[in-house]
Amino acid sequence: MSERNKSTIAVRHGIEADKHHGAVVPPLYLSTTYSFADFDTKRDYDYGRSGNPNRDILAETLAQLEGGERGIITATGMSAVHLVTQLLNNDDTLVIPHDCYGGSYRLFTSLQKRGLLNLVVLDLTQPESYQQILDIKPKVVWIETPSNPILRLTDIEAVVKTAKRAGALVAADNTFLSPALQNPIKFGVDIVVHSTTKYINGHSDVVGGAVIARTAQLGEELAWWANNIGITGAPFDSYLTLRGLRTLNVRLKQHQENALAIAKYLEQSDYVSQVYYPGLESHPQHELAKKQQAGFGGMVSFDIKGGLGDSAAFLTSLKEFSLAESLGGVESLICHPATMTHAGMDATARLEAGVGDTLIRISVGIEELDDLVADLEQAFKRTSPGQSTGSDEAKTFKLTPAHTVLW
Ligand SMILES: *Cc1c(COP(=O)(O)O)cnc(C)c1O
Repeated sequence: MSERNKSTIAVRHGIEADKHHGAVVPPLYLSTTYSFADFDTKRDYDYGRSGNPNRDILAETLAQLEGGERGIITATGMSAVHLVTQLLNNDDTLVIPHDCYGGSYRLFTSLQKRGLLNLVVLDLTQPESYQQILDIKPKVVWIETPSNPILRLTDIEAVVKTAKRAGALVAADNTFLSPALQNPIKFGVDIVVHSTTKYINGHSDVVGGAVIARTAQLGEELAWWANNIGITGAPFDSYLTLRGLRTLNVRLKQHQENALAIAKYLEQSDYVSQVYYPGLESHPQHELAKKQQAGFGGMVSFDIKGGLGDSAAFLTSLKEFSLAESLGGVESLICHPATMTHAGMDATARLEAGVGDTLIRISVGIEELDDLVADLEQAFKRTSPGQSTGSDEAKTFKLTPAHTVLW
């Protein structure tokens, strides 16, 4: 039999696995403990932190989708990130990209401050950084591509090649594209990390994470640590996340079809100065995106004309886009990274990462495209960003403490 395609794996893995009643959908096992079959005979499971059928089905499905040997399900995306850092001793070096997810950046720098690892921050989108990897000889190189929020790409194959020469493992945060659109293990990456909170669950109602290891040995070590520190995911969360995962491929098709159309609409708008979407031919890494991704994803960012007041007026004039952090749910979300997701960064670092006052990020949902474009259009017309004809009252927006929360 030929290998199953990803959409079939996502839909069918674990279906009809119930031996007891033949339930088509795997039943939910909430029990925290399992009886021994005999005095010295354990069954498949003994205790809920160490193993659970719902968690295992989700883990196996994700491992197959990513092309890895072993999956580990964690309580949150951040605990998945944290799990990978257990591979480092305090004299080992971790290389991270300067524009990785803010929560990951905060965790890595906090661990460094306590002397638990050495940290080197590089711009991995630039091949000039590769020589430094060879000089530093890190234990792990962390990549995240495309990056948040302006969707810069890292050449996975090139970083892996360099890291292997330096004797380093490579871990990739694949949250932004999901296994439907990018499989880093195919390019030699050793560990894939996901916040399943985003596209994998896809319905903005479960927080969770996953780590997928390329080899059984690395998977064994990571699974041992996950049980040891007690960060494995809950059965009900795993059940719901698997339900979300069943439709990953069809959701992503619609997400990216809408995202490309919205990116093209924004690119021709008089109210927009720049659009960031790897699917546009104008994106400087469009060719790299075509090489290493199976699609361009559902995230689009752009700079609106004008200033902070224009961003605020526009964002509060929309009806079909919720002003909210997070991404990857079926509903469209829109956010202002400078005051929301990236508010914890100091102003200089934020500008270096391309996060100015006019940057707006959209997690494009799967609603009917016409409704989304019509909503953007009415908000642009009403607020005329960057034009003198807009309502002055709406544009005298001032930053208040409520806008300076950390992630
Ligand atoms: C959200 C996110 C995380 C953290 O995941 P949580 O589920 O919020 O803990 C890590 N990496 C990326 C890229 C994310 O978007």
